[in-house]
Amino acid sequence: MDNIKPQDMGKTSDVIVRPEKLMPLPAPYDKPGMEPEFKPVKDTWKEDFCTSLDGFVGNDTLARPKTKEEEQEMIKKFLSGLDKLFSDQTNRGYLQPLALSFEYCAKCNTCSEACHTFKSSGETEIYRPIFRSEVLRKIYRKHKNGDSLVNRFIGGDIDLNIETILRLGELAYRCNLCRRCAQTCPLGLDNGLLAREIRKIFSMEMGIAPKPLHEKGTVNQLKIGSSTGLNKAALLDVIEFIEEDMYDKTGKEYKIPMDKKGADILLTHNAGEFLAWPENPAAFAIIFEEAGLNWTLSSEMIGYDNVNYGLFYDDAQAKKIGIQQFKAARDLGVRKIVIGECGHAHKAATVSMDRNVAGEDNIPRESFLPLLQDLIKKKAIKQDPSRNNFPVTLHDPCNMARMMGLIMPQREIIKTICPQFREMTPNGARNYCCGGGSGFAIMNSFNFPEFRNKVASRMKFKQILNAFQDTIEDPETPKYVCAPCSNCKGAIRDILEYYETTAKFNVHYGGLVELVVNAMPQFERPFLDFLDEEAGMM
Ligand code: SF4
Ligand code: SF4
Repeated sequence: MDNIKPQDMGKTSDVIVRPEKLMPLPAPYDKPGMEPEFKPVKDTWKEDFCTSLDGFVGNDTLARPKTKEEEQEMIKKFLSGLDKLFSDQTNRGYLQPLALSFEYCAKCNTCSEACHTFKSSGETEIYRPIFRSEVLRKIYRKHKNGDSLVNRFIGGDIDLNIETILRLGELAYRCNLCRRCAQTCPLGLDNGLLAREIRKIFSMEMGIAPKPLHEKGTVNQLKIGSSTGLNKAALLDVIEFIEEDMYDKTGKEYKIPMDKKGADILLTHNAGEFLAWPENPAAFAIIFEEAGLNWTLSSEMIGYDNVNYGLFYDDAQAKKIGIQQFKAARDLGVRKIVIGECGHAHKAATVSMDRNVAGEDNIPRESFLPLLQDLIKKKAIKQDPSRNNFPVTLHDPCNMARMMGLIMPQREIIKTICPQFREMTPNGARNYCCGGGSGFAIMNSFNFPEFRNKVASRMKFKQILNAFQDTIEDPETPKYVCAPCSNCKGAIRDILEYYETTAKFNVHYGGLVELVVNAMPQFERPFLDFLDEEAGMM
């Protein structure tokens, strides 16, 4: 369909558009056959879910209503949620920036040029940052002013039907909430915020949110203690395993302090690290112990998982989890929380929780980055950069770099310990999202990973390939993408697997603390598995 307009959201069609002419990738992915093709959409999905936007299902609880009554009920609830979004009584914390972004768009499209999804998709119209905002505007005007000729003329020209609502529910999950668009808007408008506010209507009013974020995410976390399903007993088992692994790697017996009352620091991890990348909490433990810090982990409810997926879709869930995380710190009597390698946890626990918790309940929190920079600068841990003598590039997690201005510490560290460091372009506050932001990294239902790997993460893949152009086609040279964020790491792992970049071109990924431990001269074995022959033989 050419010349796609917001009004097409309400028209019956198999799909509005499938992204087709994707942004070209650099060598060696510029040759035919180097990337997998999109797979056809299954008919059974079409009956039960909303595949009619672009053929992908991201919101796996957004089921098609089966009867006319259900359809009307869904539209009614959506409109009631829309009213709540614009009410000071029900959305006080976000109403002002929402209203400003809603009212004053000059349609200059500067933001489109900044959006990696729009550019990667070959400029597919529905992924333009203002497309979904414009749909929301039209729905709001139609809802408030009815179907008069004047209203149609002033922007209320859209069919307020079930197809529009369902497609908007999917379209809210084609944005990584990375806010690169907001950074470039000459008027300071935030289309990322608008996408998130749409998600809130579906979650908070209609009970519709992707299972990986809600049911398996925040609900699990509040019930069990972690979004991974890891309970206290399982965590303590994992900690034992990590201690054994640290001994195997270093020959030294490290003990991870658990629930130490009155410690200076409560270190919090994204619990995904304990299961998927235990070398990351291990590296933190080695660094903190070698530097002689007075620190602890918590094994109490939510105290061991700094994930807060509510940030992506639901204010009420975000607040509940944030409060529990602070409680864990208060119960231990620590001086501060230090947040490990998780970008959204940085934002959720610092910037966002400042909106929710005041007074003495507001425990001091800080990122691990300035602390680590300080330890390296003061030479509190020994470092031998020659142990990291391979090409390394750095991904800036949006939540740390763009949202919080954390840019220099990771660079100073990596420049000190990695002689072949090279930047991605652009980087720092102007970085591109990994494509896993806002929950995409864990949304693996139906064919959504295809959208993530081929569209949302495409710009990041291009940046990685460009950063390693000098050695990309030399499989003998190992290359390392440093991503100091659990979700970004997940997205980058998936790109490297999807495009077979590790297998074919020896490109690896991992965190920052792993590079720091790898550079410690006192250990015989490398800490990074791809450099470690013993690990390779296991
Ligand atoms: S850059 Fe700002 S004003 Fe221009 S189209 Fe985008 S949101 Fe609207
Ligand atoms: S927040 Fe990021 S992904 Fe979403 S529209 Fe803006 S630039 Fe695109």
